[in-house]
Amino acid sequence: MSLHIMYDHQCQKCAAYYIPYEKGIVCPNCGLDEEEIYDIVPVIVHSAKYQMDTMGFYTPIAWWTGSFGDYVALIIFQILDEYNKQIEMEDFQEVASKYCNSRSWGNQLYMKNHIHELSYKVFLGLQTVTPDKAS
Ligand SMILES: [Zn+2]
Repeated sequence: MSLHIMYDHQCQKCAAYYIPYEKGIVCPNCGLDEEEIYDIVPVIVHSAKYQMDTMGFYTPIAWWTGSFGDYVALIIFQILDEYNKQIEMEDFQEVASKYCNSRSWGNQLYMKNHIHELSYKVFLGLQTVTPDKAS
């Protein structure tokens, strides 16, 4: 099983999907600053950690995308795995940047930097998670 992220959010003005994960995150498509804040970082960190603890890697083999949050999380899991399997020892930001640049975003190009930044937050969050098995 996998831990899903049930969260959807669309900009009130332009209807673009994005995650207002902290104060000051504006719509990456039109720049609207909305009231809503949903701190998705710990939720994705929790799901990623669960995945790593049970499977040994981040990207679930089968991932049913039930929400926009799931869609975003899947991309971030893939970036985390890219980072782990690279042998060049590049830092996370470089790996995330390459991944986001090589990915096809269709008509959602506004998401590229948005998800790149969010992936870095998740990466940092994973560094501070205390292992369950710590004694
Ligand atoms: Zn917008």
